[in-house]
Amino acid sequence: MKIENPNPLQWNFSKRSQQLQSSAIREILKITMRPEITSFAGGLPSPATFPVERMKAAFDTVLTQQGKIALQYGPTDGYGPLREWVANSLSTDGARILPEQVLMVSGSQQGLDLLGKVLIDEGSNVMVETPSYLGALQAFSIYGPNFISVPSDEQGLIPSAVEELGKGARLLYSLPNFQNPTGRTLPLERRFALVEACARLGLPLIEDDPYGALSYRNDPLPKMLNMNPAGVIYMGSFSKVLTPGIRLGYVVAPTPLILKMEQAKQAADLHTAQLTQMVVYEAVKDGFLQTHIPTIRKLYADQCQAMLDALQTYFPAGTSWTKPEGGMFIWVTLPKHIDSGALLKEAVEQHVAFVPGAPFYANEPQHNTLRLSFVTVPPEKIRAGVERLGKLIAAKL
Ligand code: PMP
Repeated sequence: MKIENPNPLQWNFSKRSQQLQSSAIREILKITMRPEITSFAGGLPSPATFPVERMKAAFDTVLTQQGKIALQYGPTDGYGPLREWVANSLSTDGARILPEQVLMVSGSQQGLDLLGKVLIDEGSNVMVETPSYLGALQAFSIYGPNFISVPSDEQGLIPSAVEELGKGARLLYSLPNFQNPTGRTLPLERRFALVEACARLGLPLIEDDPYGALSYRNDPLPKMLNMNPAGVIYMGSFSKVLTPGIRLGYVVAPTPLILKMEQAKQAADLHTAQLTQMVVYEAVKDGFLQTHIPTIRKLYADQCQAMLDALQTYFPAGTSWTKPEGGMFIWVTLPKHIDSGALLKEAVEQHVAFVPGAPFYANEPQHNTLRLSFVTVPPEKIRAGVERLGKLIAAKL
């Protein structure tokens, strides 16, 4: 039985949903999936780093030994042993993080959405870096904030600016390690000054840190979480150190916020997949990441160097770029008159792609900027792609 000639529905979308836009990056990714294109556009980790065999073995162990538990519903706050593992691994620099302070989430992207849900009202002041992670701007935008772009330079956020602008704000969203999109790192003194400024203002400081473990050289700088666990909300992820397809991340925060976010999470998806959490715990509990992460660092460091060398060789005078000490991204600044959105169209014709910088700005986009990712492209293709881009830019000078 089927109704004949039904009237099309007149969709009456909620006011909230009108804030939603497709991510500019996802739209670009669709074009750049074509095999002939050398894409520096994606933010995807390199599949070469995915520990397929380790995950296979972990799935097998979990399903064989604890299948009935792994396939059942689980608690909203997460799988106990994994919360404890996260708490222990973050208890460094003299700080003690408790498992009760850890909420497991379905990717740290969900953590951003839940934070927005419980902390942002329409018109709330929300402070972000200049530029900032597009996915966070998107997640927060749904709740109708008033974004305040905090002045930032090549070393990241300028803490003294927070003192002036931060009164009455709901949160400050920061990315201290190998920032997406710029690759920059917040120096130790600035971390401390930022934590201090936020503590004085009573302003929750978000420390989003999916790339922290991917430092090319030394050990990463101390976490802001451990400078003030009562005032910092830390977000971590297994996406860049294990695999993103499992969608597993965590939020570490003072208990009142964790409880509120847990209520929001219950309404959103009841809990993060129990099977995934148990498998990841099985995969990492015996120190696997200590041998696995150095292999990712080495690969990314080599490819980053290949891109930096290529930029030095092929990009014309008047362009500049960041020199990341970890992570997945380089940020390029072109002469003021070059719009990277228009440049992308020409670049795709030359079979090379990147992400224009404008969408990463909450206010006043800088159209002469762009983001390059080097982790999924082998060095010889990096060189050839950067050469083509350099020629296009030089032709506009
Ligand atoms: N924060 C930042 C800064 C990111 O770059 C990403 C992933 N692109 C996320 C959060 C989301 O990561 P996850 O896969 O854990 O949801």
